[in-house]
Amino acid sequence: MRILVAGAAGFIGSHLCESLLARGHEVVGMDNLLTGALDNVEPFLAAPGFSFVRHDVTEFIALEGPLDWVLHFASPASPHDYLEMPIQTLKVGALGTHKALGLAKTKGARFLLASTSEVYGDPLVHPQREDYWGNVNPIGPRGVYDEAKRFAEAMTMAYHRYHGVDTRIVRIFNTYGERMRRHDGRAIPAFMTQALTGEPLTVYGDGSQTRSFQYISDLVEGIWRLMESRVTDPVNIGNPHEMTLLELAKKILRLSGSASEIVFEPLPVDDPKVRQPDITRARSLLGWEPRVDVEEGLRRTLAWFRARLARS
Ligand code: UDP
Repeated sequence: MRILVAGAAGFIGSHLCESLLARGHEVVGMDNLLTGALDNVEPFLAAPGFSFVRHDVTEFIALEGPLDWVLHFASPASPHDYLEMPIQTLKVGALGTHKALGLAKTKGARFLLASTSEVYGDPLVHPQREDYWGNVNPIGPRGVYDEAKRFAEAMTMAYHRYHGVDTRIVRIFNTYGERMRRHDGRAIPAFMTQALTGEPLTVYGDGSQTRSFQYISDLVEGIWRLMESRVTDPVNIGNPHEMTLLELAKKILRLSGSASEIVFEPLPVDDPKVRQPDITRARSLLGWEPRVDVEEGLRRTLAWFRARLARS
């Protein structure tokens, strides 16, 4: 197949490209490098079958030749980033999704939207099932991401229903692994960098808020299975292993052997109190479930951050 990955130079996009290339497909990676980095595509930049196009998907996407799949992963994705870039975040979720869907329609390609657990907002239903409509503050600081992704889901379903585009929607829960940006502001890169440099770990609030973290290779496998399936309704892909942020911080201290202390800082506005995917749909419809245990995934990621820090 010939596959377009928008957001190819990002954390998830780059792992996806690598996996599609390994399966023998031709991949066109597109990115405007706003939050992505060429460093991420470096390992396969010269691979036969890979080409890179620097382009902002909020602008019309002109691409020669046939396409089988269009995978839309372009967006700032950490709370820190979308607070710094609120307009770009809204534009790529809205206009970027529209352009990517338009391209899929023109080429007769299957389309995937990378959606998010943020569509559930600060959830009143726990764990979150796909039929929960969410609790989102549209005018809060996180609204720029949450509402953009909610709009993107609505746009995707409209292209599916009105234009007959063959669409998929993956709702991605917290994911971590190699190639996350050290200073992207998210909990795992922050705690790992702090632990490895002897800085205090900054836990926001009292650390009792929960998240459920999945390792990148599990997500990539889930996305592949979803694309190969006929499931056009949204599917949660995440690891149901839930923990508090304080537990996560302590785990990272233990795994890294760090003597850093833990300090508490103010909780960001609208920070969800709990988050855990219900993966019944993914299990039953895709035969998918996470394979990488959290400690194992954190160990691999720590090793990568350690090597990165040693080089800088
Ligand atoms: N968090 C934290 N310290 C940090 C960064 C994040 O305690 O240095 C908390 C954040 O407030 C949230 C959780 O960790 O409760 C996960 O945050 P992240 O930014 O990784 O992703 P989110 O799930 O909020 O999108």
